[in-house]
Amino acid sequence: MDSGLIQLDQGSGGRAMHELIDSLFVNAFNNPLLAERNDSAVFEIRGARLAMTTDSYVVDPIFFPGGNIGSLAVHGTVNDLAMRGAKPLYITAGFILEEGLDFGDLKKIVLSMAEAARQAGVQVIAGDTKVVPRGKADKLFINTSGIGIVPEGIHIGGQNACPGDLVFINGTIGDHGMAVLCKREGLAFENEIESDAAALNGLVDLMLESFAGIHVLRDPTRGGVATTLNEIAEQSGVGIRLFEEALPVREDVIGACEVLGLDPLYVANEGKVLAIVPAQGAGAVLSAMKSHPLGRASCLIGEIVSDDPGRVFLRTRIGGHRLVDMLRGEQLPRIC
Ligand code: MG
Repeated sequence: MDSGLIQLDQGSGGRAMHELIDSLFVNAFNNPLLAERNDSAVFEIRGARLAMTTDSYVVDPIFFPGGNIGSLAVHGTVNDLAMRGAKPLYITAGFILEEGLDFGDLKKIVLSMAEAARQAGVQVIAGDTKVVPRGKADKLFINTSGIGIVPEGIHIGGQNACPGDLVFINGTIGDHGMAVLCKREGLAFENEIESDAAALNGLVDLMLESFAGIHVLRDPTRGGVATTLNEIAEQSGVGIRLFEEALPVREDVIGACEVLGLDPLYVANEGKVLAIVPAQGAGAVLSAMKSHPLGRASCLIGEIVSDDPGRVFLRTRIGGHRLVDMLRGEQLPRIC
């Protein structure tokens, strides 16, 4: 693409966004760390291995069941560090505020950021504040950076999946996306769907203590489990088989997805980790996951294979195989 206008689906987390990132940003900034396309970049400075990441939050509405734009900003940034096995240390936060934003709302959001940071064991050590005229932004956007330190012997990245590895997840899929969407659209179901947004660094610590040789960790945010596994399949040059009957989805999320014509496999999560683990560590990692409050419902959902490199297939309940592509088009704008 050499001209034209930016479209919503170029921020979807799916195929169009990856094409934009590869054709423009990775090319222009052209360096090996960025080209790895991992959740954060890991590099060495004077013998210490550091992980660094950045993220922006534009979720609408700014308050949703289970969180708000502030707690989400901390959780998402901590998680992108944890997905490289890093111990998150420091975060920065830039605030773009719309003229007319309610001060009480801003205060609530900042206090919940502070609480989320305290719980995750990170400090917000630098920030920036801008205010733009009414209508030039929507209430509040937040941009963050995060930095952490990677312990010795930990080598986690999307390029490391190997045939024979097993794929685990720490609980139900699609909760965050459906919580935000139902709130935004004013859809009421019997029980309110709550976002799963949470900091995963404590869970990841336990997993790595149980087995340091985990190959891949990634949080299936925009584009959902389907898109995230496609990224990993492409990065590692392997095939991935998902087991349909094993995919954990809450009944109310299934119901809401049916009403809205969505597939939970493509709906965003903010407190989930996909773990790709060599068979010899699988039992230890799964029991470590189950021993943590954020991993009680952890389960095996798939396996890495050498057939069909770069592709993800779903083994259906009746034994068929269906190709699971990356998200195409824009399913749920402003979900995070
Ligand atoms: Mg991520």
